[in-house]
Amino acid sequence: MNDNLTAERATFVTHLECSLTGERYDADTLHNLSRAGRPLLVRYDLGGVAAALSRDALDARGTDLWRWRELLPVRHTNNVVSLGEVETPLIPIPKSGGANVWVKDEGRLPTGSFKARGLVMAVAMAKELGVTRIAMPTNGNAGAALAAYATRVGIETIVFCPDDTPEVNVREIAAQGGRVWRVNGLIDDCGAIVAKGAAEGRWFDFSTLKEPYRIEGKKTMGLELAAQLGWRLPRAIFYPTGGGTGLIGMWKAFDELEALGWIGSERPRMYAVQAAGCAPIVRAFEAGEEHAERWEDAHTVAAGIRVPRAVGDFLILRAVRESGGKALAVGDPAILAAVDDAARRDGLLMCPEGGATLAAYRQALRDGEVDEDEEVVLFNCATGLKYPLPAADQRLDRHGAIDFDRL
Ligand SMILES: *Cc1c(COP(=O)(O)O)cnc(C)c1O
Repeated sequence: MNDNLTAERATFVTHLECSLTGERYDADTLHNLSRAGRPLLVRYDLGGVAAALSRDALDARGTDLWRWRELLPVRHTNNVVSLGEVETPLIPIPKSGGANVWVKDEGRLPTGSFKARGLVMAVAMAKELGVTRIAMPTNGNAGAALAAYATRVGIETIVFCPDDTPEVNVREIAAQGGRVWRVNGLIDDCGAIVAKGAAEGRWFDFSTLKEPYRIEGKKTMGLELAAQLGWRLPRAIFYPTGGGTGLIGMWKAFDELEALGWIGSERPRMYAVQAAGCAPIVRAFEAGEEHAERWEDAHTVAAGIRVPRAVGDFLILRAVRESGGKALAVGDPAILAAVDDAARRDGLLMCPEGGATLAAYRQALRDGEVDEDEEVVLFNCATGLKYPLPAADQRLDRHGAIDFDRL
């Protein structure tokens, strides 16, 4: 039994705050966006956390996600839901990446993607706040994680995904108890259906950043990274950016760790990686804008980052700029070459979105944006096993003569 799941909850949440205006909201009621139509951020009594929890005490705990409970929003242990949210390893890729390149392999999480981090938290909070039916638009992995956790706690789920969502994602959502519909549109078109049903009171809207707790789950990537590196951070992070929850969450995590006195003020340069066929954040970054316009005719093999419009655009852009990083776009051929290379040369099978971070790293290296001496972390956000693989169909007739020299 994992002690982190049974320990008394001791959350230090004080309130929620509008990410645009700073307006305060009560922590213990159900919220979607703020009155300004922006994401809400969870705030903690970090002085209280620092007094209650030392780095040594934390180091002595099991390493799963729930070890961070003082910095997470769930108040009561009986609302915690878990499928085993393990700490994900940092895997070096010296041949396809370089001597100082590490992949944080999020494919090891339940449901095979880092969406588990966000959804385990959001579902636990939905349970705590009495939600009984949830709807969500998804490119696949978020819906799968939602279905798994919601089923576990007895919450009904209705999931809408674009027509061309990978078959495996649609089936895993259904297999894990979600009601899933393919929609002839993109993820924001699916989001419009969810919003309409929510306005009619049919369900609670679980769209990316439209409820406050997915960020809190995703921020554990940043907390974990600091702990894994001995309470320091890498020089640069390459993050595949769709809705940007993870990038926003990590940036928040670093501030919270600094407030606890567990890390200093140095920050990694944050690189928001998008596909050339859907790069609204890159376009806004390059134009010096604070918000990103919708990207029309979005297309890329990396479905997880095919997000034409992000409600947290300004938070992504702000974090990237404050960090001294950039938003970078990479083409599908470079993405597929990177996936292929990491698998063939380093034995690590990444998803296309993870491949995008390696492709972006290589581009940044060529452009002199990063130095090969700098320690860099790439995020592989899902297991490569969920995605179509190149054919391998050589057959051998065991009854015939076998040419062993050819094998
Ligand atoms: C959701 C997802 C992303 C994008 O993550 P965000 O934090 O929402 O930007 C990237 N890759 C995969 C595989 C995903 O499922």
